[in-house]
Amino acid sequence: MRKVTIQDLDPPSTTSPAYVLPLGDPLGTTHLSINYFELDPGDQFGYEFHRHLDQEEVFYIQQGTATFETSDDEIEVSAGEAIRFSPGEFQLGRNLGASKVIALALGAPKGTEEIEYYRQCPACETRTIQPVTFDSEERIVRISCAECDSLVEEIAL
Ligand SMILES: [Zn+2]
Repeated sequence: MRKVTIQDLDPPSTTSPAYVLPLGDPLGTTHLSINYFELDPGDQFGYEFHRHLDQEEVFYIQQGTATFETSDDEIEVSAGEAIRFSPGEFQLGRNLGASKVIALALGAPKGTEEIEYYRQCPACETRTIQPVTFDSEERIVRISCAECDSLVEEIAL
């Protein structure tokens, strides 16, 4: 048994589109990823409209209203509500409101290695699927276009 108090955890050290505290490792979870989020107006849960081919995700909104972009439409999820995305469903949640959003993001299995973005490709001049790959030796994230194979973005970690 392990218990954590969110206020006692160290604040995030990395740059992120929102204030996020991972709870999985402090709690010692083996199968479940848990992240505590605070989103100021304009913040978002992730970097891009994306999907996990190998992980389902649930977002529980504790305070405020988050707006999730999906492949079909936008869905508002308000305090006291939860939303679940299957593996393979594209999504990105944003705080488009005027007040703070507090939420928990749950993912299973804990690790995810098959992430794909769906966004503009400069070469294709349209939105394309773009697999995200991690080079653990070079510590570089590469995002390439599945349509034209061009390297869209390279991020050194
Ligand atoms: Zn392309």
